[in-house]
Amino acid sequence: MSTKRIIKGGCLCGKVRYEIIGPLLDADHCHCSLCRKQHGAAFSTYAGFNSGAFKWTSEEGLTKVYETPSGDGWCFCNECGSTLAGTEKGKVSSITLGTIEGDVDIKPELHIFVGSKAQWFEINDDLPQFEQRPVNKDL
Ligand SMILES: [Zn+2]
Ligand SMILES: [Zn+2]
Repeated sequence: MSTKRIIKGGCLCGKVRYEIIGPLLDADHCHCSLCRKQHGAAFSTYAGFNSGAFKWTSEEGLTKVYETPSGDGWCFCNECGSTLAGTEKGKVSSITLGTIEGDVDIKPELHIFVGSKAQWFEINDDLPQFEQRPVNKDL
């Protein structure tokens, strides 16, 4: 039941905006220690999209990417710090579900990197859990 609608989102201060031509794909909760620190939360939730479906609609130069040596990174607003996207080698590869505005017609399907989950957080749903990133899942 995925639709080809335009999905819009943006950061807390409103300066950074993006659009995705739906559908959103493969949403997950990532419990890795990097996401935890980067978001300042127990886990972070991302969704993918079809190739070429994502574009920034605000002016350039308002975001910054922090990248780990492995090439995985996060794109956030220079002004308010909202984490808007996950990146791979500098390219936006997933969107943070929390920055999407309006209805989201996808639900997270799995927990990944539960091997490094915060000890103070308990997973209380029945979604599949993976110690790391499952093979064949590019999230
Ligand atoms: Zn902002
Ligand atoms: Zn992560």
